[in-house]
Amino acid sequence: MNDMNDTQFQLIKEQLIKLTNMDCFYKKKLEGIDVAGIENEEDFRKLPFTWKGDLRDAYPLGLMAVPEEEIVRIHSSSGTTGTPVIIPYTQQDVDDWAEQFGRCYKMAGVTNMDRIHITPGYGLWTAGIGFQNGAEKIGAMTIPMGPGNTDKQLRMMQDMKSTVLCATSSYALLLAEEIAKRGIGDRIFLRKGIIGSERWGEKMRKRIAAELGVELYDVYGLTEVYGPGIAINCEYNTGMHYWDDYVYIEIVNPKTGEPVPDGEVGEIVITTLKKQGAPLIRYRTHDLSRKVPGECPCGSKHPRIDTILGRTDDMVKVKGVNIFPSQVDSLLKDIPGASSEFQIMIDHMFGKDIMTVFVETEPDANKYEVEHDIKTAFKDRIGMTPEVKPVDLGDLPRSEKKSTRVFDNRY
Ligand code: ZN
Repeated sequence: MNDMNDTQFQLIKEQLIKLTNMDCFYKKKLEGIDVAGIENEEDFRKLPFTWKGDLRDAYPLGLMAVPEEEIVRIHSSSGTTGTPVIIPYTQQDVDDWAEQFGRCYKMAGVTNMDRIHITPGYGLWTAGIGFQNGAEKIGAMTIPMGPGNTDKQLRMMQDMKSTVLCATSSYALLLAEEIAKRGIGDRIFLRKGIIGSERWGEKMRKRIAAELGVELYDVYGLTEVYGPGIAINCEYNTGMHYWDDYVYIEIVNPKTGEPVPDGEVGEIVITTLKKQGAPLIRYRTHDLSRKVPGECPCGSKHPRIDTILGRTDDMVKVKGVNIFPSQVDSLLKDIPGASSEFQIMIDHMFGKDIMTVFVETEPDANKYEVEHDIKTAFKDRIGMTPEVKPVDLGDLPRSEKKSTRVFDNRY
């Protein structure tokens, strides 16, 4: 729990003093707090959290913490509701982000002899351009595809002999299925997949890895804090190493905001250490993970968080039981005949909540058995029994963006 090192503390303290001495977002946010009197990690933990709502209220440029002549670019988070969040970047921020993403590629064993096929979108959001800058930083050849047009993706992938695929997990799965369907696997040269920022299950991971014949890496990040590239798993797959010289990470209980013991699951809270354009203090990400204790066999001294286990706001309460999509993922992993693809539908009918789990099954699976096994597993491991509807492989929608797993129709 107490793991802030001296360098991190000094950087945070300098930043706090600077921010509260100029006219900016944090001068107002931290009004009345004696930041000069902060002497240790405990004092730091008394500072208020920063919420996404605070960032929205600062729209459009309220987060800017340097004079405008130093800002070279903005990015915007893809808010599905209401006002977006605008994050201004200085040249140093852009360089620092590329440095971090470059480290991610290196951690994944990507070199300047690789050809990196980038399918996330370029533009206001941070995905495509983050993958791009990091790749250029390590001197690899990029193929900046952006999303969509599967025919063109597959043609370029064959002709350019792409060796690294950057994608969301759902788009990687779509491409893998398309390659299998067209029987062009022997003309694909991919050796690694770098998968961005979406929670995904072990079963889906295995399918993508098997069908594409690649090693997979999860890259983590969010627009509010640079973008993708602040953490990635290594070849030992023991969680994601994060760049603790750029970000300080706390894990807190999402309900109380109190720190959780090391190794326990909670919400990731990030404080930036060097960001200039829009520094963040104790930012609540809503992403669920845990700190992985101990040393990694790879020898890296960068600490680890686990693969993202879900979003605090993905949690649904049905019949008095809290359910995370990640629990359903891990449950399906143990059911023979069930695939990685599922959707949860929750309705309120005849005065009670009804949860239906749609799940794709393998072609040779006995749907009746799959249904029975899933119901039993739910009752044993989650404490309630849903309706289960097995469907054929490929029946549930695939998307180039993030897949929605849970549809709550009760409100
Ligand atoms: Zn490692």
